[in-house]
Amino acid sequence: MAAVTGGPDGAGERGLHEDAGRVVVVGGGVVGLACALRLRLAGVDCLVIDPMRDGEAASWGNAGHIAIEQVAPLASWGTVRSLPRRWFGRGGPVDVPRPWAIAPWLRRFLRACSPARHAAGQQALRGLLAEAMPAWRRLLQDIGRPGLLRESGHCVVWETADGERRGRAAWLHGDIGEARATPLTDKALAMLQARLDPPLRAGLHFEGSAQVADTGQLMRDLRAALLDRGGQWLRAKVARLAHADGHAAILLDDGRRIEADRILIAAGPGSKRLMADLDEHAPLIEERGYHLQWRDHDWPDRPPVVFEDRSVILTRFDGGLRLAGFVEFVPPGMPPDVRKWQRLRAHALALGLPVRGEPEAWCGARPTLPDYLPAIGRSRTAGNVCYAFGHQHLGLTLAAATADRVLALFRDPGDTSPVAPYGLQRFAD
Ligand SMILES: Cc1cc2nc3c(=O)[nH]c(=O)nc-3n(C[C@H](O)[C@H](O)[C@H](O)COP(=O)(O)OP(=O)(O)OC[C@H]3O[C@@H](n4cnc5c(N)ncnc54)[C@H](O)[C@@H]3O)c2cc1C
Repeated sequence: MAAVTGGPDGAGERGLHEDAGRVVVVGGGVVGLACALRLRLAGVDCLVIDPMRDGEAASWGNAGHIAIEQVAPLASWGTVRSLPRRWFGRGGPVDVPRPWAIAPWLRRFLRACSPARHAAGQQALRGLLAEAMPAWRRLLQDIGRPGLLRESGHCVVWETADGERRGRAAWLHGDIGEARATPLTDKALAMLQARLDPPLRAGLHFEGSAQVADTGQLMRDLRAALLDRGGQWLRAKVARLAHADGHAAILLDDGRRIEADRILIAAGPGSKRLMADLDEHAPLIEERGYHLQWRDHDWPDRPPVVFEDRSVILTRFDGGLRLAGFVEFVPPGMPPDVRKWQRLRAHALALGLPVRGEPEAWCGARPTLPDYLPAIGRSRTAGNVCYAFGHQHLGLTLAAATADRVLALFRDPGDTSPVAPYGLQRFAD
């Protein structure tokens, strides 16, 4: 039996279930890595399998914002009503270039927007988001890298009267969980304005949220910490899961077979196909986003700024200044849409961002389920498989909290209560 040390609630002496053995984590994005590291810190023999070249997955390209304020799931009638003004063709961030190809997902999304389902989702998301900051603090403390988390909140600003009216109502009167929002002082607004061209009307400062110092550095440090502590990494792609008699094994695309006491599927958008091998339906969609990042810039060391009228977020990382945005619902394999990078460039120009040179251009997919809750749980068809994926816009925020829930699941396989609202059984109909 493996001894548990450094668990989320200080329950370091509690043992893992006897069957824990070796855990193979499929997917080395931020969710898979955080889970592998938390399990390894608890004494579990851990192997991560991922073919990815650094920088490609959303875990590397995201906006770096620990967004604990985003308690309301995006599956809501409010989102549906906002679509016309948020449409890409009308200057907004939302694009659905092949609606017919994602019709089943859209049907489920509309069902999840019902007030009752939205309220239940909000409760489930609030619970996980409340753990996000403490879980990140603990995980980064445990690996000696607390400086990767910058706890200075973030700002939201508006350039238009409409944006200000809607934004104020949403953030000052809505549920923002453990975060606190206050109007930006004149001085703080003037400091931002001094760096930007268009006149800002007003803004909010959020306390309780955070950013990571650099998404790439975070990923490299999590991986290094796993390897330093005896975890393993195999650069390979899982072709499929072989499933017989309630047990799964891993088949790599080079033909090798890997037996594992336990498997954790944390392959982001790739999880859907792997779960299908187990006859488990995971209605995941790729919700793509884009960024531009300039290495050379004069943006000061400030928390992330959301330009809400433009639906973009600006984050200063150690490695450069990143402008990110767009929600593009696409079937897998579609080439990036260069118009989105052009639009980001136009926003940068209009804002007068102090940047120089050619930015790096990135596009990647959020793994999104129709109700905008993650999937965390145990397979109903293969007893040795658990899963953690589908973290949509909040994968960075929720990775460490998810890892704590996964550890709880491994500690006591009979007790699924820590993950009850997040099980895939909610899509069984
Ligand atoms: C533009 C943009 C901005 C964002 N901003 C934020 C933000 O500010 N805050 C936030 O919390 N979230 C943000 N997100 C969302 C966040 O990035 C994702 O939710 C998160 O990265 C998902 O992590 P993941 O590990 O589940 O998936 P991924 O990052 O996609 O990683 C999955 C990994 O699994 C591997 N994999 C897939 N298939 C297989 C297979 N068959 N075999 C082996 N390995 C496999 C892949 O190679 C990949 O490395 C943003 C996303 C985008 C696109």
